[in-house]
Amino acid sequence: MPTLTRRNLLAGSAAAAAFASRADLAAAAEPAAAKQAPGIYRYKIGSYELTALYDGIWYRPITDKFIRNAPFAEVERALSDAFMPADQLATPFTTLVVNTGSKLVLVDTGTGGQIGPQAGVLGDNLSAAGIDPKAVDLVVISHFHPDHINGIKDKDNSLVFPNAELMVSAPEWAFWMDDANMNAAPAELKLTFRNQRRIFADIAKQITRFEPGAEVAPGIETLGAPGHTPGHTVFAIHSGDQSLMVLGDTAQHPAVFARHPDWQAAFDIDGDAAVATRKRLFDRAAADRMLVTGYHFPFPACGHLVKTASGYEHVPVLWQPTL
Ligand SMILES: [Zn+2]
Repeated sequence: MPTLTRRNLLAGSAAAAAFASRADLAAAAEPAAAKQAPGIYRYKIGSYELTALYDGIWYRPITDKFIRNAPFAEVERALSDAFMPADQLATPFTTLVVNTGSKLVLVDTGTGGQIGPQAGVLGDNLSAAGIDPKAVDLVVISHFHPDHINGIKDKDNSLVFPNAELMVSAPEWAFWMDDANMNAAPAELKLTFRNQRRIFADIAKQITRFEPGAEVAPGIETLGAPGHTPGHTVFAIHSGDQSLMVLGDTAQHPAVFARHPDWQAAFDIDGDAAVATRKRLFDRAAADRMLVTGYHFPFPACGHLVKTASGYEHVPVLWQPTL
């Protein structure tokens, strides 16, 4: 028997013990990892190195109120066509770190672990990426919904990126910080206003407000993208002859909002403006073959947009082992 032959050959030697233990390992059932790998994806635009950092996901329950201007059966079909459950919208969160060579810039800050049990892993992914929050020079914000600003502070109200300048859109600030707008808002939206005051009130003096069109760092241009919120901002990042459009919430899951760019979601403050902004920016990205990233696109959240007969198709990037 082969086993006997091997045993005879190796009898009495240390190798026999080693071989036996390897054989035992090979036969053993491997315990399940029960844990995801870090959510990090790196890519380059010119000389800028970008790191997409996953913060987790929320499955937003949806009803026939979710899309204001389409029959719910069509919404359900769009989700089913994308192999997603029809009663909830998969809403992943992906922030972006841009290393310009002289500055470390973070675009949006994640949920701060305050939105659902499956989100709030940005800190873990920052450390897995070797990025010290203290080393971030600048934090820029696309808009003031909680999933974009809650990561500015931890649960004890301390700044997560203590050395970073914080830059926000002036029109976004003007809308949400206006108490008259808060008092006139429906109850659910009042919570959003209150959350912004919790985050910003005691650090208001440290915040720089930019006008749409301003450059917030070398090669990082801001574009007004109103609709989802009044001051919603998109960032166009340029280095060398390459560009990336950071779309924020111009569209949430592309299987729904790129394929159906006319759909207005319940969370868009001005639905008509949101649709006009989406088409304008998507047309530009498609025509210029620009790389785009969307905060709620499936991780790593970047790819290209192709214009189709009825809307747009998102083509995700291909993972590459080198930069
Ligand atoms: Zn969002």
